[in-house]
Amino acid sequence: MAGFEDLIAVLPAWLMLLGGQLLLIIIPASAAFLFLYRWKGNPLRGRKIQPGFSSAATIRREVRYSILTALVFALNGFCIYLFMTEGWTLVYAEFSDYGWLYGTFSLVAAIVLHDAYFYWTHRLMHHRRLFHAFHRLHHTSRSPSPWAAYAFAPLEAVVQTMFLTILVFVLPLHVTVIYLFMVHMILRNVIGHSGFELFPRGTAAHTVFGILTTNTHHDLHHSAKAGNFGLYFTWWDRICGTENPDYRKTFARVTSRHIASEREEERTVAALKA
Ligand SMILES: [Zn+2]
Ligand SMILES: [Zn+2]
Repeated sequence: MAGFEDLIAVLPAWLMLLGGQLLLIIIPASAAFLFLYRWKGNPLRGRKIQPGFSSAATIRREVRYSILTALVFALNGFCIYLFMTEGWTLVYAEFSDYGWLYGTFSLVAAIVLHDAYFYWTHRLMHHRRLFHAFHRLHHTSRSPSPWAAYAFAPLEAVVQTMFLTILVFVLPLHVTVIYLFMVHMILRNVIGHSGFELFPRGTAAHTVFGILTTNTHHDLHHSAKAGNFGLYFTWWDRICGTENPDYRKTFARVTSRHIASEREEERTVAALKA
């Protein structure tokens, strides 16, 4: 067991984890928000998935809960760090120990396993006995913005972050692979919650690229509060019959639009000032 002096000695690691986690969430969410919601020249403004915009109060709430999520993630990251220093995990420091081929495989495996973990825990959190305590807060954002990606109730944040804690005990992972996994997770989540469709026309119905969840896929989950439980891939929803029946139709409609009308822009500006 680590003593008090040992804990003091690793305090900078805790601060680095907290700072890193905050930046990992704040930088992509702010960049996407400024680009899509604040920049008048946004070339994708015709690709807004839902007609309405969140109020400024909703965005502020999403920011507050995103910061709380970063704290929970950092706390768990610190626990993983302690487990690593005790030598309990399968995390390794030398890339040559397993080679590049395994390094690449482990990243893909982590993403595929995370998608499965997310799908099933997400469906579980939609159970009426669990929804209120775990997942209701995330669904308060009916028309998600980039800041909604990590707007979780603390209990849900714990569920989300526990995947990595389990993974480091079952799959050998290089530290860089863990970092790349985190960056991919946060970027896909922020993009998926952006409220705008960024994927090219035809993606949802494409034989190969159709396995990727588009932004419309998760946006529909927020607006309909049912179906489309997947995170990165569509296969679990397809296998389990939980894909929203309007998904491909909605994606085709949103991606057929081009530039927003001036009236839409005026409404956007008015909503953001509210
Ligand atoms: Zn949900
Ligand atoms: Zn969401």
